[in-house]
Amino acid sequence: MLMKDQNPGEMKNQEKEILDFWAKEKTYRFDKSKKGSIYSIDTPPPTVSGDMHVGHAFSYSQQDFIARFWRMQLAGKGQVYYPFGTDDNGLPTERLVEKINNVKSKHMPRSEFIDLCIKTLKKITPDFVQQWKNLGISCDYDFLYSTIDKNSQKISQKSFIDLFKEGKVYKKDFPTIWCVECQTAIAQAELEDRQEKSRFLTIKFSSNGKDIPISTTRPELLPACVAIFVNPKDSRYKWAIGKKAKVPLFGFEVPVLIDESADIEKGTGAMMVCSYGDKYDVEAVSRHKLIPKIIFNHDGTLNFGSFKGMKIKDARKKIIDELYSKGLVLKEEPITHAVNVHDKCGTEIEFLPTEQWFIKILDKKKEWISLGKKIKWHPEHMRKRYDNWIEGLDWDWNISRDRYFGIPIPVWECKKCNKIILPDEKELPVDPMKTKKICPQCKEEARPETKVKSFYHEKSIPWKEIMISGFVTMQGEKMSKSKGNVVNPNEVVEKYGADALRFWAAGSKLGENLDYREEEVLAGKKFVTKLKNASNFVFMNLKDYSGKKPKKMEELDEVFLNELNLVVFMCTNYFKDYEYSRARSEIEQFFWKFFCDNYLEIVKWRVYNGNKQEKESAFYTLYYSLLTILKLIAPIMPFITEEIYQKYYRKNEKEKSIHLSEWPKKEKTGTKKAIELFYKILSDIRKIKSENKKPMNCEIFLTLEKRDIPHLAGMLDDLKHVVNAKEIKEGKEFKVEFTD
Ligand SMILES: [Zn+2]
Ligand SMILES: [Zn+2]
Repeated sequence: MLMKDQNPGEMKNQEKEILDFWAKEKTYRFDKSKKGSIYSIDTPPPTVSGDMHVGHAFSYSQQDFIARFWRMQLAGKGQVYYPFGTDDNGLPTERLVEKINNVKSKHMPRSEFIDLCIKTLKKITPDFVQQWKNLGISCDYDFLYSTIDKNSQKISQKSFIDLFKEGKVYKKDFPTIWCVECQTAIAQAELEDRQEKSRFLTIKFSSNGKDIPISTTRPELLPACVAIFVNPKDSRYKWAIGKKAKVPLFGFEVPVLIDESADIEKGTGAMMVCSYGDKYDVEAVSRHKLIPKIIFNHDGTLNFGSFKGMKIKDARKKIIDELYSKGLVLKEEPITHAVNVHDKCGTEIEFLPTEQWFIKILDKKKEWISLGKKIKWHPEHMRKRYDNWIEGLDWDWNISRDRYFGIPIPVWECKKCNKIILPDEKELPVDPMKTKKICPQCKEEARPETKVKSFYHEKSIPWKEIMISGFVTMQGEKMSKSKGNVVNPNEVVEKYGADALRFWAAGSKLGENLDYREEEVLAGKKFVTKLKNASNFVFMNLKDYSGKKPKKMEELDEVFLNELNLVVFMCTNYFKDYEYSRARSEIEQFFWKFFCDNYLEIVKWRVYNGNKQEKESAFYTLYYSLLTILKLIAPIMPFITEEIYQKYYRKNEKEKSIHLSEWPKKEKTGTKKAIELFYKILSDIRKIKSENKKPMNCEIFLTLEKRDIPHLAGMLDDLKHVVNAKEIKEGKEFKVEFTD
């Protein structure tokens, strides 16, 4: 068949028409009032930013395959609930709003900045959401929610109040993971590792005139040193235990303590405990009830002596220089090690005591892990990742953020007696900054909480199944702006169409990373064109055919439909198992190889020359098998399948969209042997013709093995016509002779 190439603009316009059709018909509408089962899909809402990135296109396409599959599975019996949301909470939004409007939130009145956030979001959200629509993501966009909207605020504040009343949320001055760039406390889940080059120094502490060498990458913490730890088994330092040691350069004394956590093998075996270098220090200080010395301000400058106002890295350099000039450095080596950075801004994190709100989670670890076991994970190995993540949580969940744009923590605190005052439920959502409260005891005006809340988990896990997508890579590497290997999905959609991009996204198994490869997108585009051409060819001959099944079917058609049944059976199971990549290759292979290359060629003769019964059987098989193929690939390629459905099928089929039609059912089990034998003979003959440099339609005498004939009963006429055999004979062996 001909492959007519389309220009990109044409493709784009056709998809646009389909998008308008879906919007007009409200194809993906979720009707609350309708009865029946509901398959609901909860996705992590994307943060509104200028452009959708290719990782979004990848993971949302994969979710959408499943959403569309279930919508067809449930057709007539139930619905898919697939709302769309945007995450507008907190930091990323504030940064974007600052960038777009060229302002700094710190330099504006709080209420003015919040208004600006709301105004900016209103302006940029529609264009952002449109990119999801363009990709064919089949959410009901009427259920557009934002994590900052009134309803989300209300739900969130209500659960805060419930947790507070249950004693599960508390406020505490606590060394918190702190970002000095964003000037906010952050959660452990917001950390990333980064490999960093540092100077690893061994410096000279002293006690009773003897040296205690200690290695560190952070000498600027010397003024915050509160103790030295040595391992009880370390014979090198037995003499120092219980004594005081002098901190180099600063001259004050700290106790030398024994602690099992001091690693004999690491560095010099002796270690300094500072308040606070890392999580380890926080635990050590609390374990030994040491009094912390806090030397950093919230903006990451030092507050100590001659270092006052200096940035951490500058202070480090100055202290190293001074240590050298006083002869206190014993050794220096370059080192590359992993440091914790804030995932939003890439700044190395610090630990600083701040007043924060926490939710108790540590006592829930076991419960969460057992809840995780009740969920079906796709792919299964992601459960282990979840378990490890839960096991690794060392702190209660810090939910407060020192930002402006987020969900306000709904409390006031009495200035006099420090009583915490909660709002009434009917006041929710509430902004404590805008509502005054009086302490019921002291009759004093209470101080509003200025912090906002980041989202947190529900008490129970509300999903039955979870699917987790991998990452998009470029030649095996993670995409990043700095590497210059970023692909813009909007440009790909513009150039090749959304179906082609989705075809690529269906190429990896769930949870696996996928390289962006333009060839794969192109293969998707070719598939779109072939579907279109094959459909045009089929319906050029079918014209007014109504799709009714004839009483008598030709044997070959029966066998072909049985083979299709097997594909339906496999694809259904693959989609149910979230194995859309396998479904894709199954359909792809069946369509190209069996439908286009073989079946269409085989029935051509009957379509043109057959008697009424032979023709009707062929018409039905063409009509039905093409429709089935379209339905099977519809979850992955929603645009082209809809286009063909509307053009050729809509007038006979009852559903107004292919995506609301019923998923094909497997009718009966096929006997694969007969059709396989048929194809084998067909392909052998094609090979022989081509080896002998004969045209494909040249006439032959065909001899078939005697034992094969019974399997091909009822299909010999079709075979005869498709290979142009003058005669089919029975013999000892398979033979092809040319008549000329
Ligand atoms: Zn930060
Ligand atoms: Zn009071």
